[in-house]
Amino acid sequence: MQSYHNGSRNTPQELLLENEQLKAKLLEATTIIDALRKENAALTKRLNSFLNTQVIQGDSTFVTNSGDLAAQCDNCGQEIPRQNIQIHTAQCIRRIKRCQACNKAINISEIDAHMKEQIGEFKDIIADIESNNIESLSQREAHGAKFDIKDDNQNSLLHVASRCGNREIAHFLISRGAGVNSQNIFGETPLHLVCGKNKDIGMVQFLLTQGADSGIVNTIGESPQSIAQRSGFHEASICFSQHTHAPIRPRTSAGGIRAKTHSSSRRGSGPSNNPPFNL
Ligand SMILES: [Zn+2]
Ligand SMILES: [Zn+2]
Repeated sequence: MQSYHNGSRNTPQELLLENEQLKAKLLEATTIIDALRKENAALTKRLNSFLNTQVIQGDSTFVTNSGDLAAQCDNCGQEIPRQNIQIHTAQCIRRIKRCQACNKAINISEIDAHMKEQIGEFKDIIADIESNNIESLSQREAHGAKFDIKDDNQNSLLHVASRCGNREIAHFLISRGAGVNSQNIFGETPLHLVCGKNKDIGMVQFLLTQGADSGIVNTIGESPQSIAQRSGFHEASICFSQHTHAPIRPRTSAGGIRAKTHSSSRRGSGPSNNPPFNL
């Protein structure tokens, strides 16, 4: 912006001259501004009346930042030059659909690939579990992912979540039907893994509230209970002895493989319908 300074003039004549010059420039600037205001007001009026006409015609015309008239395509959401919107829409609905799971606009020929990509592969789901990314798992589920998958050793996703000590995801999987007592090819349940490797007492307690059976034996005859005793995981041993007296609930179909158990008193236990989930 231009600015004016009172330079080195300081005699009365010089100051008077400067005063007149400044007044003249100010008058000139004011006149220009007034003219621009009037012109803008007239243009705004014309534009509004034009836009009102368009709205009455029932479309969503608007003015872009660059001053062009545009409309938003209801199908793909793109801004399209106003004069092209009708032809665009006609072509767009034949080419593009919105994904019902994530609402993304997708070329019809790429929908299958999109779903497949969003569902992901086994390793992607494992990575979500390991990184505690429940949001990503939910997105995969919305796109059709199923969580009753197992690895080569027949470890379920709940085995993985339990091994990682991830209770939130364990709860997510159980609420979708994961069998809390399902066994891998070594006969191990999620509870075996927790007692044998990471000794996470919080996860032990959580699995017990979900109906985990500490008496199920693996292929070498060890139960979570005996593993806890052998490996000095005393907190778990105490938990198991207390849980033995818990009320027996009927086993649901989500319980997985029927296991041999040391303690017939716990055979009836299964996932609770209303677990005291407490992370
Ligand atoms: Zn479109
Ligand atoms: Zn999607």
